[in-house]
Amino acid sequence: MNIERSISDFGRARNVIAGGVNSSVRAFTAVGGSPIFMKSGSGAIVRDVDGHEYVDYVLSWGPLLLGHAHPAVVKAIATAAARGSSFGAPTEAETDLAELICAMVPSMERVRFTSSGTEAAMNAVRLARGYTRREKIVKFAGCYHGAADAFLIAAGSSALTLGVPSSPGVPRGTAADTIVVDYNDAAAVDAAFSANAGEIAAVIVEPYAGNMGLVLPKVGFLRRLREACTRERAVLIFDEVMTGFRVARGGAQEIQGVRPDLTVLGKVIGGGLPVGAFGGREEIMAYLSPDGPVFHAGTLSGNPLAMAAGIATLKVVRDDSTLFERLEVLTGLLTSGLGEILTKYGVPHRTARAGSMFGLFFTGEPVVDLASAMRSDTTLYAKYFHAMLDRGISLAPSQFEAAFISTAHTTREIERTLAAADAALAEIVTTAR
Ligand SMILES: *Cc1c(COP(=O)(O)O)cnc(C)c1O
Repeated sequence: MNIERSISDFGRARNVIAGGVNSSVRAFTAVGGSPIFMKSGSGAIVRDVDGHEYVDYVLSWGPLLLGHAHPAVVKAIATAAARGSSFGAPTEAETDLAELICAMVPSMERVRFTSSGTEAAMNAVRLARGYTRREKIVKFAGCYHGAADAFLIAAGSSALTLGVPSSPGVPRGTAADTIVVDYNDAAAVDAAFSANAGEIAAVIVEPYAGNMGLVLPKVGFLRRLREACTRERAVLIFDEVMTGFRVARGGAQEIQGVRPDLTVLGKVIGGGLPVGAFGGREEIMAYLSPDGPVFHAGTLSGNPLAMAAGIATLKVVRDDSTLFERLEVLTGLLTSGLGEILTKYGVPHRTARAGSMFGLFFTGEPVVDLASAMRSDTTLYAKYFHAMLDRGISLAPSQFEAAFISTAHTTREIERTLAAADAALAEIVTTAR
């Protein structure tokens, strides 16, 4: 595949942008090769600067539930832009989007908007700490809550090990307040509460973990987190930045029947523009300034363009009663089709899916947490990634990411993808012999 222009674009970018990218994973470090520069997209298709077309399963890492350049979203953004892009004063659009969110996610009695998921998660944790007057938080190894200091902590070797920073620049003190336990290990959370009695402000979790590949919660795991937090008077935070309006209208919490105290949103609620939100119980949200003592602010929080894109997206979600059923059918076709092909070629694998999200691990063992996810064959993934890219299928350039479909994907794209996977694996398996 000729990607001359992408290669020269990357060279030019590297002269002025550190590493040539503005978010690390985009650099293709995990799969090798030069990153593809994109130029345009419509529906399920994205086009690069060298003129290739791809069926897109990255979808800007999740936000594009309706696909690229959905007409209602484009129109909403254009209309809002013509009225003025930002005022730094309240606008009706913020309330419109908040009303849509609160109506579809009942645990969110009040919300606040930010400009990214990172900011929203960071503020939710500060709020939980201010509300409980405690400082420690529990997070799960392999869960991602954005790039704020408190979340960039590697797993300790046992449930009670205090975290060590996973990036230089994160202070040891910050890491010491983050207790890392294994995903799907509710007993470890109970143990963390016993060992840190009265000190844990919050437990933060991705109800469906989508940032180590897709790892689903075991039956009862989230309910046990709810029980532990209620018992210990800690705040249960569901980070639904990825799952919100992706797996169901009311998020993973609706499917699982567990009500968190605070929820963090982002991605889909911005329809492709920079947005985050956090919200939950009115009593806790009342601790935010100006009503309460916990500070929160943002020059572009609730930005009119972002609100317009979010409103247009969430109105489609609200009004289309079979949207998630249709998406489930398509991800089901895709994962079962991929499973059959991989079995045919004798490649050990595990697939998972939830709503419009799906994941594929190159391991024969069940994947329930970070350690089991890490047993995947990342070398094989890199080959699969490039073989699929060559055949017009754009997947995430890392084994440890979830994949997404949009309402613009149809059985046609799924069939094209499965045919590409069959050809890709034929090539990989033959070369390996
Ligand atoms: C993407 C993501 C974030 C961070 O959102 P940004 O908008 O990239 O800052 C936080 N939590 C989860 C679960 C995410 O998937």
